[in-house]
Amino acid sequence: MDMQEYQGRIKGVLITKEEIRRRIAEVGAEISKEYEGKPLLLVSVLKGAFVFMADFCRAVTVPCEIGFMRVRSYFDSTVSSGEVEILMDLDQDISNYHVVLVEDIVDTGRTLSLLVERLKQRNPLSLEVVTLLDKPDRRVVDFQADRVLFTIEDRFVIGYGLDCGELFRNLPDIAEYDVDYAAEVTV
Ligand code: 5GP
Repeated sequence: MDMQEYQGRIKGVLITKEEIRRRIAEVGAEISKEYEGKPLLLVSVLKGAFVFMADFCRAVTVPCEIGFMRVRSYFDSTVSSGEVEILMDLDQDISNYHVVLVEDIVDTGRTLSLLVERLKQRNPLSLEVVTLLDKPDRRVVDFQADRVLFTIEDRFVIGYGLDCGELFRNLPDIAEYDVDYAAEVTV
């Protein structure tokens, strides 16, 4: 599927695959330097971060293991905190690893702050969060990723693993979804 088939459904490309590749090389080099000689586990949360993880782990040039999780988060508007349910867990004990959580996007920050809390209870040697995208304007809890590849405005984005109704994950660039599209096609 190429970009042509997405025309009309996206407002435009926000971040090209070349820009993504450049930033991944930079941050991959930082991580490689930081964790050289240390037991390193890269963990990502499915499904949104799978494309980023695939490219990011290949920019890490020191030995590392890879793990995946799936989570579902619940939030009640009457309480500030929510709950995160682990649908698929890591298959290793993380207490002997430096863990780098490789995420797609920090939006309200609620999912990641809960997940980080849960993972810290498992006593990793250290834990840091690398996120592809950050939307600081949308934050409702105090959460800051340790490394951010791109900071973006409050837009709903798709592509490079990010979906809208499970579609668009295979788009190679990061694009802004046209929220009016669904309304138009049902008229
Ligand atoms: P948070 O708990 O930070 O609000 O939720 C983060 C999750 O919301 C992300 O992992 C992602 O699944 C979803 N999300 C937030 N913003 C966007 C966006 O612009 N596009 C897409 N496709 N998903 C988003």
